[in-house]
This record gives sequence, structure tokens and C-alpha cells, in this order.
Amino acid sequence: MRLGVPLLPLLLPPLQGGLCLVAGAGGALVWPTLQTVPRLTLRGALVFGAWLLLQATLQLLVPGRQVQGAPLLDGRRLPYWLNGWRSLLVTAVVLALLVGAGWMSPALPARELGSLLVTATLFSFLFSLYLQLHGWWHPDEGSASGRLSPVHDFVLGTARNPRLGHFDLKLFFEARPGLMGWAVLDLSLLALQLERHGTVSNSMVLVVGCQLWYVVDYFLFEEAILSTWDIRHENFGWMLCFGDVVWVPFTYTLQAQYLVARPVHLPGWAVAGIALLHVAGYVVFRGANLQKHRFRREPRQAVWGRPPHVIETDGAPLLASGWWGLARHINYLGDLMMGLAWCLTCGFGHALPYFYIVYFTVLLVHRERRDHAACARRYGPPWRRYVEQVPWRIVPGVY
Ligand code: NDP
Repeated sequence: MRLGVPLLPLLLPPLQGGLCLVAGAGGALVWPTLQTVPRLTLRGALVFGAWLLLQATLQLLVPGRQVQGAPLLDGRRLPYWLNGWRSLLVTAVVLALLVGAGWMSPALPARELGSLLVTATLFSFLFSLYLQLHGWWHPDEGSASGRLSPVHDFVLGTARNPRLGHFDLKLFFEARPGLMGWAVLDLSLLALQLERHGTVSNSMVLVVGCQLWYVVDYFLFEEAILSTWDIRHENFGWMLCFGDVVWVPFTYTLQAQYLVARPVHLPGWAVAGIALLHVAGYVVFRGANLQKHRFRREPRQAVWGRPPHVIETDGAPLLASGWWGLARHINYLGDLMMGLAWCLTCGFGHALPYFYIVYFTVLLVHRERRDHAACARRYGPPWRRYVEQVPWRIVPGVY
């Protein structure tokens, strides 16, 4: 799902003494990049290990419900155990108890950001090796493309739905350690800002609030992940694993990291405008994703109060009305609007917080093209009819 390299150590130097402090390194001018590459520490490794263990235990033990996944290309439907919402609540209670009892400083994860980043990166490489072997050992879970080369298999994975018994590894890593980790790191960075500056800026409250909303929303509509590209079509290899475990928690907290170093106090009109942009983005993002998810389950259900405009194919039908009649990936537009809102909370004092929206735009434009090519292959002429009827890729009337 998420592409890239660990950029944080390279992005930190420009903020000399700013973000560098967050990552636990000094802001020296000589050899800045080398000096700001975080170190592996025992404490960081223990925190990461405990977090992974907690999340895996919750995935296994917390009550939930079993849901059949969307049909795979071979027609099978895998059962998934969904208990994300309750696991999120238990996680919040456990962390609140640890902090309340004085056993853990709320700023601890933020202070350990650098070593957590290194540990998570190492983990993603080692675990991806396991995933590669797992796919070779379980050809029934393997991808249609087969073994192209060891490097290809390592990066893109060898199994589409690797499982240990009933434990679905891809579903777990899509959300648990990384997505929840993002929320925890955000809150921890807020605590660190309070610790360092004696106050929490309204920009920090806004960005953390918006991002917590994004994470909570994921768990409220957890089932919708089952009909996404990642779950249905992508193998689970280094690219997904690194994205889930490293990229999301450490890059998506970039705005909060920045605000620890340079608190921004926004005027009321800016807070209102950013909040409005976020809400509007959310309506598009959630509305479109839910609409497709429901359509995939019940293709005849009304869309925006009217019978859906359906394009029949040899496989699953395509929806050409509602959100999906405005642009072929309008869900990406909603996501981009929310991402822009997060960046804007940091004001215009530095370009670094805008890294997210630039990266995310590139990612989603590239992803849309990949999906378009895959759908054109999968559906043939019906897809071309859909493209004729809905010519816009992401932004209606623009792109
Ligand atoms: P989609 O959920 O849009 O899934 C694309 C798939 O949907 C297609 O392959 C096709 O699959 C099906 N589809 C496409 N058009 C139609 C149609 N008209 N009618 C019915 N089915 C259709 O893509 P993603 O999985 O990429 O994204 C899901 C969400 O996750 C998005 O909102 C995106 O913004 C977000 N996201 C967030 C990221 C982040 O880092 N924050 C990264 C990537 C995505 P099929 O034919 O198999 O049904």
C-alpha cells in the first residue's frame, strides 16, 4: 500500500535542533545526516516488542465477529476475525492505566521515536524474509504471478493472504501495530510538546484530533478494508510490511513531530477552515469507500436514493453512479483533502510538513494508474465503457 524509503533521518537535519531533538539526536551542523540517524536501543526494542505482543494478543483474544471477505480472483471467500474497534478501546485503557499508575510517561514513545523507527525498520526487513519463505512454503496462498526473482518476491511478496492458522497476517499488519501506533505516537508527541513548552498549541490539538478521527474511523468501518485493493489483490511482502509498520506511524506523524519542535498558534479562522476541509474530505472519502463496499455486497441496493447505474461484466459488476459516477477514484480525492488539512495545521513556516501531501499525491496518482490498468485487464470492454461514462480519474472536471 505505501511506497518509499525511511526518509525521516534525512528529513530531520534541515530543522537543526528542532525535529532532531524529537528523534533524540543533537542538532549539530557537521555531518548532520549521520548524526541524526537514530540508534537502536534496548529500550526502543523492548517498547516495540511489547507493543507488537499486545496487539497480536488483542487480535487473538478480544471478542469480535467473523466476516466473509470479498470474493478473491479464484472465487474463494476467506473468513476474517474483526475485533479492531474493541482492541482499540482495550489498548486505550491499557495505556491510560500505565500512564495513570505512573509506570509510563505519556511522552515515552515520542522520546524513543528514533530507536523505535530503527527497530521497526529492522523488523520489517526480517519479517518480510519470513513472508517470502511463507509464500514459498504455502503455494496455495501464493500470488498468480509466481516466483519472478528473489528480489521481486521479497519486495512484492509471495503470498496474497498469508495466515498462521486463522491469524491473517496481512489484515493484522494493515492496521494494528502501525495504524494504532500512529495514534499513540501522535498523542505522545502532544504530551512531549506540553512537557517541552508548558502548553499545547491549537495546531497540535487540531492535527492530532483529525488524525485520531482517521484512525478511529478505520476501526469503526473495519470491514470496508476487506474489499480494498490491498487485501484482495496485493501480495504481502516488504513493500506492504514496511509501509504498514514503518512508513505510516513514523511519516504520518510528521506534522505532530514538527509542532513539537516549532509550535504554531493558528488564528480562529484558520482552525475553522482546516476543520471544514477535513470534514469535507472525510465525507467524500468515507462516503465513496462505503458505497463501493456496500455495492460489492449488494449490487442492487439504492445509491443516493436511486437505483444504481450498473455496468455488467463477466465478473463483479461496476458501479457508475453515486460517488463512483463523479470520478473513478473519488475516494482518493477525499483522502488528499484530509491530508492537505493536516499539513496546513503547521502553517507556512517550513516546507517539511508538506512532504506528506506531495508524497501522498504521487502515491495516489500512481496507484490510480496501476488500478486502472489492472481493471482494464480484468474487465475488458465493460471497463472501457465505464471510462467513457466517467472520464475523470480522481478530481471531477480536473483530472
Ligand atoms: P479502492 O478501494 O478504490 O479499490 C480499487 C478497486 O475497487 C478496484 O481494483 C476494483 O476492484 C474496485 N472498483 C473500482 N472501480 C469500481 C467501480 N466503479 N465499481 C465497483 N468496484 C470498483 O482502492 P484502494 O484500495 O487503493 O483505496 C482504498 C482507500 O484507502 C482509499 O480511500 C484510499 O484513499 C485509501 N488509501 C490510503 C492510504 C494511506 O496511506 N493513507 C494508501 C492507499 C490507499 P474489484 O474489481 O476487485 O472489486
